[in-house]
Amino acid sequence: MPELPEVEWAARQLGRWLVGRRVEAVACDPRARRLFRPGSPAAFARALRGARVAAVARHGKQLLLTLETARGPLGVNAHLGMTGKWVARPASAPEPGHARLTLRLDDGAVVHYSDPRMFGRLRLVPRARFDEWPDLAALGPDPLATPIDLTRLRARLAATRRAVKVALLDQALLAGVGNIHASEACWRARLDPRRRGDSLAPAEVARLARAVRASLRFGLAGLDRPEIEYLEEGGENPFHVYGREGARCPHRGCGGTVERLVQAQRSTYLCRRCQD
Ligand SMILES: [Zn+2]
Repeated sequence: MPELPEVEWAARQLGRWLVGRRVEAVACDPRARRLFRPGSPAAFARALRGARVAAVARHGKQLLLTLETARGPLGVNAHLGMTGKWVARPASAPEPGHARLTLRLDDGAVVHYSDPRMFGRLRLVPRARFDEWPDLAALGPDPLATPIDLTRLRARLAATRRAVKVALLDQALLAGVGNIHASEACWRARLDPRRRGDSLAPAEVARLARAVRASLRFGLAGLDRPEIEYLEEGGENPFHVYGREGARCPHRGCGGTVERLVQAQRSTYLCRRCQD
């Protein structure tokens, strides 16, 4: 499942492939209606045909594309959901499996959005006014794009009784932190993920903020390849504790064992010996 590093990687790839290019032809999978909601595949294709991509941005796990059309600016909000991927292929190559959207560009390149399970999103945003969608406007600051504001994070955590790992999944706290990096960050910060947000001392919040950034940067550094394979697809597990129940804790000298528990219906991995 894509987490923030994978979405950042997708944004960088899309920036290279699309910015400045004109979309000459668009094909949308008519069976993929749910991806295009509240619009439709046909309306999406019509809107993008002939448009020029001006910018690709990202906030949290939301990809925000701005296009120039004859009728003014147009936005696209794309989300990878659980299995989404953007893939560039030469025009002569076969399309990837589960291609839901195919863009043929004026430089001859072809960019596909592939998504087997279709939990992703491809939404038109009139006039590229992304702030008019409440779910986008409600996002907290992006911890990969900007340093984490410790005063804000301290205040937000002090106001919640939720477990710190569960609080980290709240996109209004920090946009884009998902289940894997929330678990990894608590381990890096040596904090028990079950601790209540309002129990954290300022130094622990600072440690957690550093750990979130470190985990995301670590994730990003491992992605330098043309096509990403997600963990669930049999991709290699690069993480320290996530998905490693029963393994020795990688903290030097700890000697503890990684355990799995469930918080808010999601798996958390932790080492009880060094996380307190
Ligand atoms: Zn440990």
